Amino acid sequence: MSNRLDASRVKRNGVPVGLFTKVKNLITRDIAIDLGTANTLVYVAGKGIVFDEPTVIALKDVRGRTQVVAIGTDAKAMLGRTPEGIRAIRPLTDGVIGDFGIAEELIRLICRKAFNQRGFTSARVIVTVPSGATAVERRAIRDSVEKAGARKVFLIEEPIAAAIGAGLPVTDPTGSMVVDIGGGTTEVAVMSLGGIVASKCIRVGGNTMDEAIVSYVRRAYNLQIGESTAERVKLAVGAASMPPDGDERRAMVRGRDLVTGVPRELEIGSAEVVASLAEPISAIVEAVRTTLEQTAPELAADMVDRGMVLTGGGGLLPNLDVVLEQATGVPAIVANLPLSCGALGAGSALEHLRAMNKMLVH
Ligand code: ADP
Ligand code: MG
Repeated sequence: MSNRLDASRVKRNGVPVGLFTKVKNLITRDIAIDLGTANTLVYVAGKGIVFDEPTVIALKDVRGRTQVVAIGTDAKAMLGRTPEGIRAIRPLTDGVIGDFGIAEELIRLICRKAFNQRGFTSARVIVTVPSGATAVERRAIRDSVEKAGARKVFLIEEPIAAAIGAGLPVTDPTGSMVVDIGGGTTEVAVMSLGGIVASKCIRVGGNTMDEAIVSYVRRAYNLQIGESTAERVKLAVGAASMPPDGDERRAMVRGRDLVTGVPRELEIGSAEVVASLAEPISAIVEAVRTTLEQTAPELAADMVDRGMVLTGGGGLLPNLDVVLEQATGVPAIVANLPLSCGALGAGSALEHLRAMNKMLVH
């Protein structure tokens, strides 16, 4: 008996053998993690997307030690309304890992929640990284995933994953262009023969649009609203330009009056929201223009034929395709399932590792 207990304490890859064998069936699958600034998706080979929740973690300090209160959807509900002692944060707001310790914990918990188990052990894991991430940031992501228990970690640049997920023929000798508008960043990339030939990553995305709405409401109405409220307004009545019929829609916002300090409610119209989004939209247009300017003439000609594909949640902003097309002369198409392209593309790269090997970050 005691022998058997001892055997169960023998560790393989740092994991007790007993545990390893018990959960083996669930966890030996390869997985892809799209660790976005706004949302994290987990794709399991042969299964599809098993986890899709906001990249938010809520923390509490207890006697000098930080504890995790909630992650994902539960933690997002706490953003901007946490009681004293609890912080809800987006650890990847700018597209890269700000706090290594927190990110590592978040990755571990996501994997546990995704599998409904004690984390993954023997899996090969592919993780998307922003193309603007530095070598140090890439190392940090790799280390976090390894520490979370992955057997082997591959990194794939976000725009490549998004392009594969959108069904673009990235390995062909033609130019494919993707504009991935996430929460904290917009990544524009032109790819050919499996590599990025021109790209631009800016720290402007959906969150920037929310912030623009917050500051507009503050300036115009002396009303302080939270970013979650601003996001809701953006989703309800936001657009990159007014539709030609000028159909004005309205949304209620609630916040705190900056003069009286008491809660106040008002209605704002889509024309106001469109106007307040002008700055982030023109930054995105500029990034697309710059990338096109860097693109060799042959590939730029492919763009005119094949167009650019919009991915990421920001790609769903009404009329953004129209605005980009008018500004650049290149047709813009919104991908199918823009919010899932990164995870689907990374997952597909994982399932075709040999063919895709060249496109991964080593
Ligand atoms: P990330 O990859 O950085 O996690 P996502 O691709 O998940 O980002 O996109 C999240 C962003 O997309 C958020 O800022 C969200 O508000 C925005 N978003 C989602 N749906 C829409 C929509 N229908 N219209 C405009 N923006 C949207
Ligand atoms: Mg993304």
